[in-house]
Amino acid sequence: MSTPTKRVAFHTLGCKLNFSETATISRDFIRHGFEKVDYRDEADIYVLNTCSVTENADKEARKLIRKAKRRNPNSSVAVIGCYAQLKPNDIAEIDGVDIILGAEEKFNLLNHLNEIDLNSGTKVIQTEIDHVHKFTPSYSSGERTRSFLKVQDGCDYTCSFCTIPLARGKSRSDSIENTMKIARELAKTDAREIVLTGVNIGDFGKGSDESFFNLIQQLDSLDGIDRIRISSIEPNLLTNDIINFCASSRKFMPHFHVPLQSGSDKILGAMRRRYKRNLFEERVTKIKSIIPDACIGVDVIVGFPGETDVDFLKTYNFLNDLDISYLHVFSYSERPNTDAVEMGGVISKEKRTERSKMLHILSDKKRRYFHDKFVNTKRPVLFENMKNGKMLGHTDNYIQVQVDESMTLINTIHLVKLSLNHGTVVNGEL
Ligand code: SF4
Repeated sequence: MSTPTKRVAFHTLGCKLNFSETATISRDFIRHGFEKVDYRDEADIYVLNTCSVTENADKEARKLIRKAKRRNPNSSVAVIGCYAQLKPNDIAEIDGVDIILGAEEKFNLLNHLNEIDLNSGTKVIQTEIDHVHKFTPSYSSGERTRSFLKVQDGCDYTCSFCTIPLARGKSRSDSIENTMKIARELAKTDAREIVLTGVNIGDFGKGSDESFFNLIQQLDSLDGIDRIRISSIEPNLLTNDIINFCASSRKFMPHFHVPLQSGSDKILGAMRRRYKRNLFEERVTKIKSIIPDACIGVDVIVGFPGETDVDFLKTYNFLNDLDISYLHVFSYSERPNTDAVEMGGVISKEKRTERSKMLHILSDKKRRYFHDKFVNTKRPVLFENMKNGKMLGHTDNYIQVQVDESMTLINTIHLVKLSLNHGTVVNGEL
């Protein structure tokens, strides 16, 4: 009698990096004969890839572990990811967890599951983050049209609010040759667009004679992929070479996402960011001068300790005057083991909410204004999914477009004339 196929279910919390890593681990299981099922279904193994940014990380993990055990009380539960690296002992106290793997070990989950005795209590396998040096390239495979390719991990910066270096370790990446191998594997899937992902992507190649600029030059000749985007890059690492190259490339899209965090030099200093507002402004001006149609997204944090009304207004006015397209607004939240937590000048929750609202309104205004500029023009759109009877996709410069067409358009690129601007989405005609 043959052994029944084992079923494995994954759930991912947090960022795109986590999603690409889960996808890589799940492909490993499938290669070894497992059947992948939905996390809501009955499985033999449940894998939870956690995030440390979620404030209620343990609450969320507890809920998901309980859910898994309810579906199948005899299942094994594995917890991996940033929360598993940072607080393995907290997770070990949650009933029903069989194995917890830190940053270095998560890609060996399958081996560890084979080796451990699942009836002997929770097993924690975690290396001190200072000793984590391995890099495992990954790519996501959840969406058909777009895939997130992880080319770099970890961060050597010491921003005073951030726990990512504690959870993911030092900056590291693979050689260009190996990264290209993975990219070519990805190019054989259905995906037509790649989003280059990492923790501090501009640091690719650090410590070697290769750089992020060298990588994008190589990726530009990748067959089987039509579009490449750079997920987010620190302003001090977004060099003129990179901008000039993207301006001349047909594959790299006119779309940049650059974290600013604050428009006050005093706050940037307290955050230990590696630039001042002048540099940021100069980067935006450079992009716009050679790629006038480029979409520029900006991350900003409100309510950092010591951010007075004057500091916030500096940020607001700075962003208002900059030629950018949208904002990702984060309210500062205290993280254990960071320097920012010890700083005075705590901003009340009410003030954080109020400032966040103001920047959300500014973001809507910026986006609407950016979209307006392209009404009555034609842009290439990659169609991605169907929602409320409309086919949705993004232009090269990241405008979300909806058209009255059928599913047949999915995963194809067409020239679309943009018409009515609804703010977040613009109507289009083929
Ligand atoms: S650059 Fe700063 S905010 Fe970004 S991951 Fe590194 S330490 Fe964290």
